[in-house]
Amino acid sequence: MLHKKADPQPHEENLNPTFGSRYISTEIPRYSMPESEMPPQTAKQIIHDELMLDGNARLNLATFVTTWMEPEARELMQETFEKNMIDKDEYPQTAEIEMRCVNILSRLYNAPEKESPCGCSTIGSSEAAMLGGMALKWQWRKRRQAAGKPADKPNLILGIDVQVCWEKFCRYWEIEPRYIPIEKGRYMINPEEVIERCDENTIGVIGILGTTFTGQYEPIAEINDALEELNSKTGWEIPLHVDAASGGFVAPFLQPDLKWDFRLKWVKSINVSGHKYGLVYPGVGWIIWRDEDELPEELVFKVNYLGGDMPTFALNFSRPGNQVVAQYYNFIRLGKEGYTRLMESSRDTARFLAKKLEELGVFEILGPGEDIPVLAFRIKEDADVNFTVFDISEQVRHRGWLIPAYTLPENAEDIAVLRIVVKEDFSRDMAMLLLEDLQRILDHFDELPDHRKVKDDPNDGKHRPKC
Ligand SMILES: *Cc1c(COP(=O)(O)O)cnc(C)c1O
Repeated sequence: MLHKKADPQPHEENLNPTFGSRYISTEIPRYSMPESEMPPQTAKQIIHDELMLDGNARLNLATFVTTWMEPEARELMQETFEKNMIDKDEYPQTAEIEMRCVNILSRLYNAPEKESPCGCSTIGSSEAAMLGGMALKWQWRKRRQAAGKPADKPNLILGIDVQVCWEKFCRYWEIEPRYIPIEKGRYMINPEEVIERCDENTIGVIGILGTTFTGQYEPIAEINDALEELNSKTGWEIPLHVDAASGGFVAPFLQPDLKWDFRLKWVKSINVSGHKYGLVYPGVGWIIWRDEDELPEELVFKVNYLGGDMPTFALNFSRPGNQVVAQYYNFIRLGKEGYTRLMESSRDTARFLAKKLEELGVFEILGPGEDIPVLAFRIKEDADVNFTVFDISEQVRHRGWLIPAYTLPENAEDIAVLRIVVKEDFSRDMAMLLLEDLQRILDHFDELPDHRKVKDDPNDGKHRPKC
């Protein structure tokens, strides 16, 4: 969030902590640095108390991001807080662990034996997307320059359903985004729509494994085949980058035969969020290229001021190393068996919830809800009800549940949905409790006399799903 200068009312200028004079007897300024020190317990208590007003992360069904890790993982993370990921010379073993993670992922994504995959950790999928996107742009420009052709009008093909990081990528790096609209009943891109928009200035195509809006996998294999046909006909070399932010840790375990990764020729790079279904607390993502040749040398900087001569490709410099340590912990602690078991369990909870939601009579699940364990559901078109999904979202908050309501993108913006992301720490028991609350809310609306059947989206269509 971009924060502005605060303009406090007189009564807002100071913090008045609780506990009277037990800890502190003076006021402290809210928006400027206090002149004097305070004891550590006091500072901790003040902040601790304020944060009570945040939502309870375990009831946050809006987020894709991990809200629970094992105590052993927490301890390990605490032990490694001071490690800076960039200091590869000072913390060579952390660097080694990052390297192992890259290897584990490139094998999980079936990088061909004869190629040399490479990659790195990032702060999340957004940074990974910027790096992947830049490699696409630089590679395209090289091909154009080699052919003696202009390289000043790059474009990228992507669905209107992309996560905001891709809109950022296009704007920050001055690339024309060619958005594929969605339609009612089709909430993702398809090969025909992709091919129609490609030309010699196309730097690449983005396919999403698990869209933010409905959790569905875009048809990556079909798009790969269509690109193969187009590229062999035209001599272009339009690659595919897969945004597997959430699906990258789900598909390999639940649908190992689904071809979406480096088994497909034109998939050159993949990003994934370690802090989503990779099951690590927020702060880690990954980008993997199928071969070193896909990563232009000019993008990699060599720095020697930390000792050694370390190649780095990143937007950030200093960054916590403990997230990467925690990722490695999960890899060896869970193995393929553990990840499979946890993903199956989340999928089963999602299926159970989907069935029960439909039994409530007024909801309809969008998409099959079978890819990542995410359910997007709407109020049935013909349901005669006096509430909207926005009312439901507000009502469940009274019990602490965070379930976002939002409208779908252009062309389907009159469809408003609720979305639940099922994660490992959302148990079947919690699902039952949520269903009871939903039933209570439906009963409550039933008893209301006023029929506000059509209520406008209070946010004027400006909703975006959070993740
Ligand atoms: C979450 C998400 C992102 C952004 O990932 P961060 O790790 O939060 O930066 C990008 N794309 C998709 C499809 C996502 O779900």
